[in-house]
Amino acid sequence: MARNRPPATHRSPHTLAVHAGEEPDAETGALRLPLHMATTYKLPGFGQRLFDALLMTSERPPHAYTRWSNPTIRALEDRLAALEAAEGPAGRRQKVGCVATASGMAAVSALLLTLLGKGDHVVASEVCYAGSVELFGLHLPRWGIEVSLVDTSDLRQVQAALRPNTRLLYVETPANPILRIADLDALARLAHEAGALLAVDSTWAGPTLQKPLARGADYVVHSLTKYLNGHGDALGGAVLGPVKGVQRIRKEMLVHLGGALSPFNAWLIQRGLVTLPLRMERHCHNAMAVARFLDQHPRVSRVVYPGLESHPHHELASRQMAGYGGMLTFQLKGGLGAAITLAERIRLFRYATSLGHAHSLLFYYPTDLYVDAVAYLDAGQKAGIREWTGDGIVRASIGLEDPDDLIADLDQALRGRTFKGLVGPLAYRLFG
Ligand SMILES: *Cc1c(COP(=O)(O)O)cnc(C)c1O
Repeated sequence: MARNRPPATHRSPHTLAVHAGEEPDAETGALRLPLHMATTYKLPGFGQRLFDALLMTSERPPHAYTRWSNPTIRALEDRLAALEAAEGPAGRRQKVGCVATASGMAAVSALLLTLLGKGDHVVASEVCYAGSVELFGLHLPRWGIEVSLVDTSDLRQVQAALRPNTRLLYVETPANPILRIADLDALARLAHEAGALLAVDSTWAGPTLQKPLARGADYVVHSLTKYLNGHGDALGGAVLGPVKGVQRIRKEMLVHLGGALSPFNAWLIQRGLVTLPLRMERHCHNAMAVARFLDQHPRVSRVVYPGLESHPHHELASRQMAGYGGMLTFQLKGGLGAAITLAERIRLFRYATSLGHAHSLLFYYPTDLYVDAVAYLDAGQKAGIREWTGDGIVRASIGLEDPDDLIADLDQALRGRTFKGLVGPLAYRLFG
């Protein structure tokens, strides 16, 4: 019977989330993944396996030191790889490698510093996670890497930015925080025609809603801190891609730069993954309900959610994603004063950064601070972003609560009297 079982990647994400990378413990029969906190391991006897353990010559070397590999972390990596590889279109299915890191930013930096060196050129989304865009804008140029920041949802801008020395096209979709969607099929074609690789930060969708590797991307990055863990209690990151490339990232970046995941966080995140497919269904359902409510609210001037027909990239999102996700942004008629009122009056939503948790979270970005203050965008780019966002962005991470309770909470908060006090630079300091 067992021989007729389909390969693991043919199974549903619901099944993979429960089973992939986890077998009953060989020694004790325990059904739950053991947490191995050991930092170091008894090495195999002198010979080929010792060589493999110390130099990591094979895909799954014996464990030697936890910064390089650890049994609990490897189980997490196997589950992530199975979820990312699941249900790709026939013919494109490839073996997916995974390396877990201490945070999402450790994954982003490990990928960039492995693939790029002095004299290389990278094209990246000009709006993406603040840590990433600042890494591109402020730091890579210091190390002699040329950077072009463009709107990666506009294929002409991407095409025009590619150069003979472009090694990498780096895209975040949906983009944090403004929810632009980039066309992965088209970007993979453009990158490959130019002899470059395509890397995608897929954190906002996660592996059940979006499959960049199946659309031709070479690498995928996730912040595990967000939906993949889903409980708001562990930082983590991962890079997924071709086995050899991922092995190189492990050898060059974990060993030499050191951003290794804690085994305890790996254990928490591996447990969080069990419910990922279920949670994402609920996040999508709740976000759609909240988006439709806000869309007709008298105090709200605009809602940006890929699931709304009014989203400029709604059709692309429908084609490329299996669900529209749990993130939305909206704009208030009363500007910053109204955002302060909202932040003070919410009772179920929490005013906080981060996203992808069971709890619903809100965070406000004053456009002036978010767009105008940064040094690495030109005036035209700033105008383009402003046109998309309007004045002030309320970012909402819609959690797992009952959508009617969330809607009632937003409604009572939005109906408060608009704050008229200190609205200016000091308030920016509180909210920025
Ligand atoms: C949060 C986030 C990151 C960074 O992840 P950390 O785990 O906080 O380091 C990267 N990309 C996106 C899209 C994010 O939302």
